[in-house]
Amino acid sequence: MAEMSPLRRRMIEDMTVRNLSPATQRSYLYAVTKFSRYFSRSPDRLSVEDVRAFQVHLVSTGISWPALNQTVCALRFFYGVTLGQAEIPERIPYAREPRKLPVVLNADEVVRFLEAVASLKTRTALTTAYWVWVVRGSARPPTAVVEHWGAGRFLGIYPIKGGLGVVAATPTRIMGPDAVGRDGRKVKAHFAALGDSIADVMASLPDDLGQTFWWHLTDARSENWIKGRVVLLGDAACAFLPTAGVGASMALESAAVLDDELGRTDARFLPGALARYELRRKPRAETFQDDSRRLASMMMIESLELSWGRDQLMKFYTLDMLAKNIAQSLAKPI
Ligand SMILES: Cc1cc2nc3c(=O)[nH]c(=O)nc-3n(C[C@H](O)[C@H](O)[C@H](O)COP(=O)(O)OP(=O)(O)OC[C@H]3O[C@@H](n4cnc5c(N)ncnc54)[C@H](O)[C@@H]3O)c2cc1C
Repeated sequence: MAEMSPLRRRMIEDMTVRNLSPATQRSYLYAVTKFSRYFSRSPDRLSVEDVRAFQVHLVSTGISWPALNQTVCALRFFYGVTLGQAEIPERIPYAREPRKLPVVLNADEVVRFLEAVASLKTRTALTTAYWVWVVRGSARPPTAVVEHWGAGRFLGIYPIKGGLGVVAATPTRIMGPDAVGRDGRKVKAHFAALGDSIADVMASLPDDLGQTFWWHLTDARSENWIKGRVVLLGDAACAFLPTAGVGASMALESAAVLDDELGRTDARFLPGALARYELRRKPRAETFQDDSRRLASMMMIESLELSWGRDQLMKFYTLDMLAKNIAQSLAKPI
């Protein structure tokens, strides 16, 4: 076991003497260790300017307001108590709490909130970057589905054969595969803002991503699904972001409807059969795509304030309510 440094021991003693709870002690030690690792230097050799640079770095990773202030508390304690530099703590500023939405939203507030989300979408073309990997031998329950929606980042953990599939996504505007290249550490640092509860699955992503395949994912819809005897279906007709998890179902439904229409006709009436196919499928696929886009913009909200509002909203609204066209239509015959 690595020996504890005198400085770390001293900080633990300082916290113990002041009767700080074990959880607070752990979080303070974690924050100071992270600070030290960021500069690869012992924290007693780092200055207030370094603290400032570290805070700027944390904010750029999209860290939550409470997590940022926990780091501030830890550093203020470390400098003020453990290093005995009483003048320093007041030079380490707390983050101002973002203006919060009311916890219980009335109907108008919900509408205003959703409009704000929609306008985000029109301002930024929602191109998303995805990293997808498999974790084997995880201690997590093999059947649990877990999704984390953060500010400008999403991470989902899904059961797959022999392990867990992990999907990490973020708007390309914030951090795309081009900026990351082979450096898995950048992906880990970006998603660390979602909290310690995903540390195990992030640890399984290699530091060197090698020649990993990556996507810029965006979606599209074709204006016409038919040209002469050529018919589009699936993603070629109306492509889906993975957010609503319905793209494959839509492709299969379209194949079934095309089969149905072709099975009732012969070559003489082919144009009519194809027109009916498009009529039966296009509105439904596009409505589903609208819901899928809406879910994607909710998942990828970048502002801390709006993502906080979304999290409150999700306490009262299920995914089925947010993607209501999909939920209602799936129950109807195709
Ligand atoms: C990360 C991710 C997660 C997803 N999760 C879900 C989910 O949970 N549930 C869900 O329903 N949907 C999901 N989807 C969406 C779903 O995968 C697609 O909507 C679906 O696969 C579309 O089917 P398709 O047959 O139209 O196209 P594809 O499955 O893309 O098939 C097209 C095929 O054509 C081949 N091809 C391309 N060009 C040529 C060429 N010139 N010559 C010959 N072959 C060619 C391709 O290699 C490919 O095999 C997800 C998508 C992604 C990216």
